[in-house]
Amino acid sequence: MSYNEALFLENAAGLGLTVTADALNRFAVFSDLLCEKNKVMNLTAITDANGVSLGHFADSISLLAAADIPDGSRVIDVGTGAGFPGVPLLIMNPSLRLTLLDSTRKKLDFISESLASLNLSAELLHSRAEESGRDKAYRESFDFAVSRAVAGLNVLCEYCLPFVKTGGCFLAMKGPGAQDEIKEAYTALKTLGGEVEKSVPVSLTDGHIRNIAVIRKIKETPDKYPRASAQIAKKPL
Ligand code: SAM
Repeated sequence: MSYNEALFLENAAGLGLTVTADALNRFAVFSDLLCEKNKVMNLTAITDANGVSLGHFADSISLLAAADIPDGSRVIDVGTGAGFPGVPLLIMNPSLRLTLLDSTRKKLDFISESLASLNLSAELLHSRAEESGRDKAYRESFDFAVSRAVAGLNVLCEYCLPFVKTGGCFLAMKGPGAQDEIKEAYTALKTLGGEVEKSVPVSLTDGHIRNIAVIRKIKETPDKYPRASAQIAKKPL
């Protein structure tokens, strides 16, 4: 068994979240698929039952405790990897119109197989964030962007804020250094049209320090952003 349902439910309840029986079944299936595939490709460093239940599933759904994400919202998960936090969000609420973006095709192939087994649907986008963020089909068209473990907040703002509509939200999952990252992202936020509304501490039973930066899109991102990858790396905002 690759997942500890009791531990997951205890942590979900601690976040004030209820999980339906359908969602529990899907989490069990997804954890098995993740651990099975991880034997043949490097999807995640976390594969023990407690780690998957807490570090992947409970952590991902903690976004729902930090922000109200209404049914049918258009959500993009930037740098989703093996599907975190996006797939658990979709398991919790299948009405979300979810786009899962990653620059690594093989990870998206795993997600595609998993979604078929879970009987869920989402758009898979094989691209770099800084390229799709300039594409009219994606730019300023999401209610929410979410991201975990992809880049420092200043760089992540340039990847994520161009996708978000004015009035929408970017939810950045961060660790103990969240406050410092928020300070360092001052110029990026101001330049790209974001404003930190709040930083929400997340408490799970593994005791790790987690914070979710809730960033409101208060004005359009200027056309020159996101810049090309090399420029972002050379001169981060
Ligand atoms: N978000 C997942 C999680 O928390 O488990 C994956 C985190 S993994 C450390 C970072 C992922 O971001 C990788 O799958 C990588 O391919 C993707 N990534 C990094 N930079 C990216 C970019 N500029 N555009 C798209 N994907 C990117």
